[in-house]
Amino acid sequence: MANFFARTLLKWHRDNPRPLPWATTNPDPYHIWLSEIIMQQTRIEQGTAYYLRFVNKFPTVDSLASASTDQVMRLWQGLGYYTRARNLHKAAKHIVENLDSNFPDTYEGLLALPGIGPYSAAAISSFAFGRRHAVVDGNVKRLIARFSGVRSSIDDASTHLQIQQIASTFMTDVSTAVFNQAIMNFGALVCKPKSPLCAACPLATHCFAFQNNLVDALPVRTKKKDLRERYFHFVVLHYRGKFLLQRRVEKDIWHGLYVPPLLESKSTRIPSHTRLHSFVHGLIGHDDIEGIESSSTIRQLLSHQSINGRFIHYKLLAPPITSFETFVWVSKKTMNQYGKPKMVAEMLNDY
Ligand code: SF4
Repeated sequence: MANFFARTLLKWHRDNPRPLPWATTNPDPYHIWLSEIIMQQTRIEQGTAYYLRFVNKFPTVDSLASASTDQVMRLWQGLGYYTRARNLHKAAKHIVENLDSNFPDTYEGLLALPGIGPYSAAAISSFAFGRRHAVVDGNVKRLIARFSGVRSSIDDASTHLQIQQIASTFMTDVSTAVFNQAIMNFGALVCKPKSPLCAACPLATHCFAFQNNLVDALPVRTKKKDLRERYFHFVVLHYRGKFLLQRRVEKDIWHGLYVPPLLESKSTRIPSHTRLHSFVHGLIGHDDIEGIESSSTIRQLLSHQSINGRFIHYKLLAPPITSFETFVWVSKKTMNQYGKPKMVAEMLNDY
């Protein structure tokens, strides 16, 4: 079975090449690492554009390490899951400062870097250094669960381990890097989550799910938790052609990104005049302001939260008296120097 799987998979891979900019015959660990971190939770088309932007701006791990946090966050803007960007930057600094700019070349060494879990460590160690580690991402889990008839939830750690063991058995006697790339591509392009291409699938003759009419039932998933609804009222303060952004320092979503000061409430209803004025007073030391406009509610879905955002614009009638370290007053020209969540970037571009 293992032989059939690997042989068939690698033939399919040869017949269906999917050239990726970082997959060269002489792979650069820095490029592989960048691509792996960027591609997590990202479609390949979108991720490739970001990968090329990063490589262009920061061609070496040294250049990434010496960049400012704001530069990194700005380039990452729009990709979401911003902890990845912060860890990427932290890891680059660690590699330069403590490892003499050399990438660890073992699974364990990679696992010790910020932001690198078992999946990324397996991927980088196999793609960059040819180490024998089976990569298990969502595509691989789905494919193996169907092909081998795994009935437990693929969200459980024990099932993850089981699938990793099956994949390791399948990859015996083949090039690890090629096998890992092939199995991920096959899962993404043939054994797709919805409407897999079973009729044309070269694995179908030995596929448990196909042979037992269980393709729609596998893989088994644990029911997702309900989304947490949040209501953000962004207060956009305009003064002499500039407006105020604030770096988020709380342990919360969008940490390190810039947003207009925000009031959170329990509903989409605009906070009272008194609450808004007192909020502004706390920011700039007075509430001598004039309302300009407020937007309708915009919704952005994150992995476990649904953000309902509204932008309330005010003009300052007197200069701000107080300020905070996290504040920046930006103009249309300078606002692009700061990384912002998608919802905020779109609003400011449109305004
Ligand atoms: S036959 Fe269908 S379910 Fe089985 S591996 Fe192929 S595409 Fe996936």
